[in-house]
Amino acid sequence: MQMRVGIIGSGIGALASAIELTKLGLEVTVFEANDVIGGKIVEQRIGNFRFDMGPSVFTEPHLVQELLLALDPQQTFPYHQLDESCRYFFNDGQQVNIPIHKEQVAHTLASSLGEDSAKSLGFLHQMDANYKAIYPVFIQISLHRWRHLIGFPLLKALRRIFKYGLHLTMNKQNRQFFKNPKTIQIFDRLATYNGSSPYLAPAMLNIISQLEFNEGPALPVGGMVQITRRAQQLAQQFGVKFHTNERVLEILHQHNNITGLKTTNANYDFDLVVSNMDIHYTYEQLLPTVKAPGFLLKQEKSSSAVVFYWGVNRSFDQLGVHNIFFASDYQAEFKAIFETKTLHPDPTVYIHISSKVETADAPAGKENWFVMVNAPINVGQDWDSEIQLLRKRILSKLTKQLNVEIEDCIECEQINEPRLIDARYSGKQGSIYGNASNNAFSAFLRHPNFSKKIKGLYFAGVTVHPGGGIPLAINSAKIVARCVQEDYPSLRK
Ligand SMILES: Cc1cc2nc3c(=O)[nH]c(=O)nc-3n(C[C@H](O)[C@H](O)[C@H](O)COP(=O)(O)OP(=O)(O)OC[C@H]3O[C@@H](n4cnc5c(N)ncnc54)[C@H](O)[C@@H]3O)c2cc1C
Repeated sequence: MQMRVGIIGSGIGALASAIELTKLGLEVTVFEANDVIGGKIVEQRIGNFRFDMGPSVFTEPHLVQELLLALDPQQTFPYHQLDESCRYFFNDGQQVNIPIHKEQVAHTLASSLGEDSAKSLGFLHQMDANYKAIYPVFIQISLHRWRHLIGFPLLKALRRIFKYGLHLTMNKQNRQFFKNPKTIQIFDRLATYNGSSPYLAPAMLNIISQLEFNEGPALPVGGMVQITRRAQQLAQQFGVKFHTNERVLEILHQHNNITGLKTTNANYDFDLVVSNMDIHYTYEQLLPTVKAPGFLLKQEKSSSAVVFYWGVNRSFDQLGVHNIFFASDYQAEFKAIFETKTLHPDPTVYIHISSKVETADAPAGKENWFVMVNAPINVGQDWDSEIQLLRKRILSKLTKQLNVEIEDCIECEQINEPRLIDARYSGKQGSIYGNASNNAFSAFLRHPNFSKKIKGLYFAGVTVHPGGGIPLAINSAKIVARCVQEDYPSLRK
């Protein structure tokens, strides 16, 4: 008889697990509490505009392509490769458009920000080499199984981390290489890609610059939603069953072995379970009798976000697909997010406009603005008044910088915020990536992809190892599949 696996949630970590486990010959059923599959990678139409509601920065598109190929060699995943990483706007009026590829980036940093071109190039080459050394060990395998580490260039990765990582934060390393505070701010921003602070996160995370500035971001044809939509379609075609509007209430186990899932509709028998629910809530809500790994779960949470989805009644040539309007005092902004748990009065504002390349996302001559500010997790702030104040501050900042009354351009609007991120996707207190990486040892402080207490229980998604972001969620699923194969050797190779 085929082994049966129940998957809790349908984020990209869950869908990737469904595909990888189907490939191993398991019978897979996915339970999603919401009425739509995809977790945070879903879309919404507001007025005549289409918006991707969650992720907008998409790197390592080959991972999605490979995922689809795992079941069907005919699959392709078309995407736009952007030739610009991001447009940066500073409060003094300076605008710097950062291209992609090391040489062009170094050239722009020299011409616009007065950096030493050779030094910038040296930094980018170093990050490329660090990425190649660190990725196979810290992202592609489990750090919690010795057999995963055997045969991997662990020593090489650790040597690099000790040389470039443990004793430095991202900001300290960036300050060693760059002299202009604006350049430092541009590189520091990459800490937000997993909801962390560059003043606390280890320098090894600077490898993100390899993806952001050398390979450059992509955008799927049809929008980010195609990532989860295509994965779901393929999984369904290969027999995966999807149950929407069905919340899992408990993970059932007996004598430390998985027996099934209890949902809002029924009890189901399963041999294996993969939880894609935030790891904190998995323990709190679904495993009431199991002692949770307190030390891992009490680590500082990653940031949350406030997002305004604005249908804008004109186009702005000055803006690209990704735009950042920086705060003047970046350190104070991170202190507000992580220490005082407030929104800083001068926030960094990110605007993503997919209609710049996906023209059907907005009517002709108009644009779909995804306007996001990094925010603290929900600890009971008065969000209604905080968000109204934030909206005013964003409008004033953008109006000044773009020299257009932005309020008059907004045709339709919707808002997402920490309370909704918690309620809609079960992200603990609205945190987006589980634990923050605000710690030199953060890579070791994420939950493993398997349970050490219950045989047959696995975890995938951004709140467990290896961490935040779509590529890492896909890697978490690959690690789950490898662990399952190791634990049940009779499964198909
Ligand atoms: C505003 C915003 C912007 C972001 N920007 C980026 C970005 O630019 N790039 C990037 O890579 N990442 C970004 N992210 C993070 C991104 O969402 C993740 O990288 C990825 O989509 C998370 O996938 P996941 O597999 O962890 O699951 P999630 O997408 O978190 O999905 C988990 C699913 O589990 C379901 N669920 C939870 N509990 C239960 C239960 N008990 N029963 C049934 N179902 C349950 C939830 O409803 C949800 O659908 C962003 C997130 C947000 C919110």
